Amino acid sequence: MEILQYTDEHRMFRDALRRFLAKEVTPHVDQWEEAGIVPREAWRKMGEQGFLAMSVPEEYGGLGADFLYSVIVTEELVRTNHSGLAAPLHTDIIVPYIVSFATEEQKHKYLPGCISGDIITAIAMTEPNTGSDLAAIKTTAVESGDDVIINGQKTFISNGINCDLLVLAARDPSEENPHAAVDLFLVEAATPGFEKGKQIKKVGWHSQDTAELYFTDCRIPKANRLGEKGSGFLKLMLKLQQERLVCAIGAVAAAEYMLEMTIRYCKERTAFGRPLTKFQNTQFEIVEMATETRLGRTFIDKLIADHMEGKEIVVDVSMAKYWTTDMASRVADRCMQLFGGYGYCEEYPIARAWRDIRVTRIFAGTNEIMKTIAARFMGL
Ligand SMILES: Cc1cc2nc3c(=O)[nH]c(=O)nc-3n(C[C@H](O)[C@H](O)[C@H](O)COP(=O)(O)OP(=O)(O)OC[C@H]3O[C@@H](n4cnc5c(N)ncnc54)[C@H](O)[C@@H]3O)c2cc1C
Repeated sequence: MEILQYTDEHRMFRDALRRFLAKEVTPHVDQWEEAGIVPREAWRKMGEQGFLAMSVPEEYGGLGADFLYSVIVTEELVRTNHSGLAAPLHTDIIVPYIVSFATEEQKHKYLPGCISGDIITAIAMTEPNTGSDLAAIKTTAVESGDDVIINGQKTFISNGINCDLLVLAARDPSEENPHAAVDLFLVEAATPGFEKGKQIKKVGWHSQDTAELYFTDCRIPKANRLGEKGSGFLKLMLKLQQERLVCAIGAVAAAEYMLEMTIRYCKERTAFGRPLTKFQNTQFEIVEMATETRLGRTFIDKLIADHMEGKEIVVDVSMAKYWTTDMASRVADRCMQLFGGYGYCEEYPIARAWRDIRVTRIFAGTNEIMKTIAARFMGL
């Protein structure tokens, strides 16, 4: 029996999404990679078709869809072989902060735009001097009457240029407990004092507008704090579980995608008068990669099911995030080797897939941090 129970509705959604991506995304990917950004129009088209923020409850204009719809979007986007249209980041990582912690007024104000694609979101935790150690962030949030004044700098922020709405982590400098000092705030991009800095040139993820962000006496209403004062760190710890799960789902989907394209290539390409698949080394490489990919698939499908049942997944998701992204990186490297020189050419999709997978071991909590979390929860 399959671990995940997809219904006919899920399958129809996947088919419709595939058709949409083939028509509206894939033909433009090379251009977006060149431009370093995805046009806002592409986000709106995703929204128009109901492919953004599907889990938002119906009272705010959403579909109230289950997490399997998110799994489908993550898996299908992987097959477009680009990172710029970061719908899973928006849908499954940032919008859930608004759904879970914003006021009713804020939900009605922002969620319809998140669903339609008129509001593109970003989350800003990382700073130039701290990434893994989130409690050490320096960006300050100081109360002033009914407002909060933000000062500081963020870096590596995905959707940093396109974003209209930011979930920002900042600290109260008067609070001595580093964890209780952190809060999360909603910041609109048009707020005076909030400036988008330069786009960061990266090894991969070329169509993703990763940027630096600056805050200089940026005044926002106190009501933009998500939840109780001092609860930001806990909120991050809670929501980072789904972020890591989405990262693992993407990694397994990427490994499957790379392996499929490599098998196709190895069947067609000949050397010494026979297809590459007839060499024992190619067979062993492919069988070993298929084994690892299947292990990853079983692991994450079980994890998805557990997550949907509301089970505690901290240890397993930390293991899955590090193992699946390491595994997908191994697969990328071995696949490229089987493509020979062509694998190293931009014309061949394996080149971009190989380049793009690398960062998954670094963001959403580095793989080393995943192991420290698992060790702590295992009582080591
Ligand atoms: C393309 C891209 C997109 C990103 N998008 C976002 C985003 O949208 N929002 C956001 O807030 N951030 C984002 N990030 C930032 C990302 O989350 C951080 O880069 C990551 O958390 C690591 O932080 P750091 O770069 O400061 O590395 P550091 O924390 O300086 O770590 C450096 C090295 O030290 C290791 N290390 C650190 N602490 C420990 C420890 N306790 N034990 C063992 N090893 C340790 C790390 O594993 C790593 O290998 C993005 C990054 C990239 C590259």
